[in-house]
Amino acid sequence: MDRKAFLKSLAILPVTGTAMKLNELNKMTAPFNSTVKMPVLFLGHGSPMNAIEENEFVQGFRNIGKEITKPNAILCVSAHWETRGTFVTAMEKPTTIHDFGGFPKELFEVQYPAPGSPELAKETKALIKKTEVGLDDKWGLDHGAWSVLKHLYPNADIPIIQLSLDYNQTPQYHYELAQELKSLREKGVLIIGSGNMVHNLRMVEWKKLNETYGFDWALEANEKMKQFILNDDHKSLINYPQQGKPFQLSIPTPEHYLPLLYTLALKEKNERISFFNDKPVAGSLTMTSVKIDKA
Ligand code: ZN
Repeated sequence: MDRKAFLKSLAILPVTGTAMKLNELNKMTAPFNSTVKMPVLFLGHGSPMNAIEENEFVQGFRNIGKEITKPNAILCVSAHWETRGTFVTAMEKPTTIHDFGGFPKELFEVQYPAPGSPELAKETKALIKKTEVGLDDKWGLDHGAWSVLKHLYPNADIPIIQLSLDYNQTPQYHYELAQELKSLREKGVLIIGSGNMVHNLRMVEWKKLNETYGFDWALEANEKMKQFILNDDHKSLINYPQQGKPFQLSIPTPEHYLPLLYTLALKEKNERISFFNDKPVAGSLTMTSVKIDKA
């Protein structure tokens, strides 16, 4: 129903009982009504195998899913969707994309049939002023999204859209674009950045993917990042190439790190930060995840 039709239908309502009818109509015209302010998450997704394995990280994702209010919808910024320009997925039924190779058949069989939300896609497009956001009908859900969401919301009953990362843009640009999404938090939308704070695949000890240890530089960078996060020093995090060798080794390419900036950009002054799954894996990855919510 568009605005005109909505006003017309109001005019034909009897005066008594209008409040109730108005509520009902609002529900129809604005699927993302104001509600409690949702937290914001950054999830370290690590190996796609986390989708089908049982381990402490999966347990951590499950706990977070239970801990926070069930959202009306989810907007996920995944490390695995890089585009020229910015897009949101706008289809009714996003397909589960198996965007990796060399993993067991079982992983390729995983389906996460959560619905999309063309309404949220349009609302997100309208909110972002920094650039013209394209409505995408070809992507779906990549493993940066479904390998973790599967544990947070195993019933796949919450509508999800993804927002892409424009690979031509600077960290500062991404941070500012993310700030434009703030009002979605008030509408029951859970915004999730999915990547890894420390992510150097070239140096990963592949045979030790189940071992929680990190190289010295990885531990050092991870600790420094946490300090910057706790101090609200987003400037230093945006200027990560200037933070020395451990940061350079931890962020050889930006795509797994940028989703963290999306999460932090949505933090209000007095909100609380908490970390979970805060451990290194296979030397050169950290699973450290962040929750931002009201103090
Ligand atoms: Zn990844």
